[in-house]
Amino acid sequence: MPNRRNFLKTLSSLPLVGGLLAPKRTSAASDRRDYFKELGVRPIINAAGRRIAELVGCEAAMVTAGAASALTLGTAACMTGSNPDLIHRLPDTTGMKNEVIIQKSHHFGYEHAVRNCGIRFVEVETEADLERAVNERTAMMLFLNYADPTGQTKADRFAELGRKYSVPTFNDCAADVPPTENLSRYLKTGFSLVTFSGGKGLRGPQSAGLLLGRKDLIAAARLNGPPNSDTIGRGMKVNKEEMVAMMVAVELYLKRDHAADEREWRRRIDVISRAVSSIPTVSTETYVPEIANHVPHMRIRWEENRVKISSAEVQRQLREGTPSIEPVPGPKDVLAIGVWMMQQGDEKIVARRLRDILRAAA
Ligand SMILES: *Cc1c(COP(=O)(O)O)cnc(C)c1O
Repeated sequence: MPNRRNFLKTLSSLPLVGGLLAPKRTSAASDRRDYFKELGVRPIINAAGRRIAELVGCEAAMVTAGAASALTLGTAACMTGSNPDLIHRLPDTTGMKNEVIIQKSHHFGYEHAVRNCGIRFVEVETEADLERAVNERTAMMLFLNYADPTGQTKADRFAELGRKYSVPTFNDCAADVPPTENLSRYLKTGFSLVTFSGGKGLRGPQSAGLLLGRKDLIAAARLNGPPNSDTIGRGMKVNKEEMVAMMVAVELYLKRDHAADEREWRRRIDVISRAVSSIPTVSTETYVPEIANHVPHMRIRWEENRVKISSAEVQRQLREGTPSIEPVPGPKDVLAIGVWMMQQGDEKIVARRLRDILRAAA
């Protein structure tokens, strides 16, 4: 059996993950960083959490199996604390707090990860509703960061109310770097827990994520997951390579030239734009979502009486060609392209395919 150290060396020499694991590519030696040695640990790595907390500037951190798993472990932590009987009992909530307050407009498609723990959502709209909803059964207040503009209680106030009533607050920020400062911002303004996906803006392992926040809650979250056998999170195992890779992803992310990234994304949009803009009625625009995937994307429009193809059909042809090109998910009648997850040069392929499809219909 190869040991972990050798496995990591092998891993870092693979082109796919080499960029992730080896920040400097100046010499062969720099491809072989010994992360365990740098951390000063034998290969059992809770130290990765400590290092990530230092990097981000928060009390505590753990690497989870994605943001969804962080939602489950964080919720469980708020319900059970470090009590082994309660940890064992979940999702039966007998004897523990089992209500989670959420603003109506903050419901979202990953809630199952919270409901897993046997909780009941208590839905509120106004701030007065929220204050009335807090009671001795309230385990947690859940906030969906990208829904901030739609809720009546904004992020900072939400965290403040949590502190006022001594109820832990959890902000799901899964897709909300960049900007980098979001990594620490919501903990600084008073949230007890936040989560980020590893494989979105942070460019870490796709199957990992971060749970950041209060030391006691992170400790309780750990107790609710592996290696503890009889727990709600036991199936959410994170291997040591992912833990280290997540740590390195945070290191690299903090060191990135974010302005250069932004220029590169705009350049790619420009390449695609120029390829299609001579086709009659075709226009393009750049847009940046306010929160979540907060980077330049592009939308492409045309008049269907001149270019006789629907957006849905263009999306289908992009998807079904080789290579398959996946537009930004959303309404079928809007063609949007995300450029930030492309490899260098992909923008030319997208430009050519899009031009060919639209020209053929013009
Ligand atoms: C993507 C996402 C998740 C799930 O993240 P994973 O890391 O894939 O588990 C949870 N919440 C929100 C808001 C997301 O955008």
